[in-house]
Amino acid sequence: MKAIAEAAHKKGCKIGVDLAHSIGNVFPNLHQDEINFTVWCHYKYLNAGPGAIAGLFVHEKHHQNPSIPILAGWWGHNKTMRFDMASEYSAIPTVEKWQQSNPPIWQLASLRASLEIFESVDLKELREKSIRLTHYLEKLIDELLPDDVEIITPRDPEQRGSQLSLKVKAGAKASVEDWMHKNEGIICDSRGEIIRVAPAALYNTYEDVARFVYALRKFCKTHQLEHQQDKLELRARL
Ligand SMILES: *Cc1c(COP(=O)(O)O)cnc(C)c1O
Repeated sequence: MKAIAEAAHKKGCKIGVDLAHSIGNVFPNLHQDEINFTVWCHYKYLNAGPGAIAGLFVHEKHHQNPSIPILAGWWGHNKTMRFDMASEYSAIPTVEKWQQSNPPIWQLASLRASLEIFESVDLKELREKSIRLTHYLEKLIDELLPDDVEIITPRDPEQRGSQLSLKVKAGAKASVEDWMHKNEGIICDSRGEIIRVAPAALYNTYEDVARFVYALRKFCKTHQLEHQQDKLELRARL
């Protein structure tokens, strides 16, 4: 991110980063890396639930810059004069000025419950656990799964978070998603032939990881078998 930010700034651009898959997963230093702004959702690694409100970061150096246009809502207005109803808008000189209106309270409650848990853990330890857990997943996949499952995420732990994307070629006609759900009670997310496996360091265990890999191994075996049976049937029919 630092290198991308430097390249952007050299061209006179501001840099904004989508942290949807980073927040609560890897812990970049946004001020040090000179990132101008970022946005993210709270429902992935931060566990605030589907439909949770989004987050926004704006680099401190922009907070008091009046030339940056904002959507001026009453929650961004200087609190001491909020009800004076003056004709001039007076923005709060912090990141609070980007707030517009009342936030939805149930979503804040679930987000708060999640953030309290994150407050109570050491983020450095969480990241170390995440690196070990992801490495364990990688090792098991390499050792136990056939070549038609390919890891397409970088192998260097510094270049990835708590996730491996797998290309699953076994049994092209079967959906891994349906099979895993029906047979193993595991809910997968697939995009075409890619499934994304994310052991969350906060609560997933080495046992969870092993269980997943063994389930996927069963899927591969079953579908290779079906594939062979299809071929035999076809031959018999011919
Ligand atoms: C999940 C995700 C988002 C968040 O989108 P929402 O509209 O908040 O659901 C944004 N960018 C990426 C890359 C994502 O994976």
